[in-house]
Amino acid sequence: MNSEELALIKESIREVADFPKPGINFKDITTLLNNAEVFKRLMEHLVERYREYNLDYIAGIDARGFIFGAALASHLGIGFVPIRKKGKLPYTTVSEKYSLEYGYDEVEIHIDAFSSKERARVLLIDDLLATGGTASAAARLIERVGAKCVEACFIIELTFLDGKSKLDVPIYSIIQEV
Ligand code: AMP
Repeated sequence: MNSEELALIKESIREVADFPKPGINFKDITTLLNNAEVFKRLMEHLVERYREYNLDYIAGIDARGFIFGAALASHLGIGFVPIRKKGKLPYTTVSEKYSLEYGYDEVEIHIDAFSSKERARVLLIDDLLATGGTASAAARLIERVGAKCVEACFIIELTFLDGKSKLDVPIYSIIQEV
């Protein structure tokens, strides 16, 4: 992806100050999704990158990871697996807790999510990497149900929060906010 295309993607993401609470600069990707040309180019870039990864599945994190993940899985001709917030998946699940500033949160995956393939190769995807708590819990879930998380992909990485250091898998981000 050239610097012009990168700038277009960056510009298409709206920033909302003090959402959902004071001090948070929220990266709103709905404006990127709304821009057909930019969304298309972003997906083409991801398809080009991941075509050669020999992936079996894409796993997306609740909820914005579903949008990019499902579109990418369909383009690559592979299955999609949702990693959801606790209590949303109907069948037997495996869950992982992760710490928040105050308290904890929990994500879940269906126990048989990757059962069609032994040691399935999985790409984890979400819109944004902040502290890394959500993505590292999601990567642990993938491993716990018998698959291999080959990489974690994000549209935006807030590098100043060093989420990368929490993850034991390679990460790829399109935009880095320093
Ligand atoms: P973390 O677990 O701290 O890495 O947080 C990542 C999750 O929170 C992702 O699912 C993001 O969608 C969401 N998130 C955290 N910070 C922001 C932000 N500044 N703007 C938009 N989404 C965010």
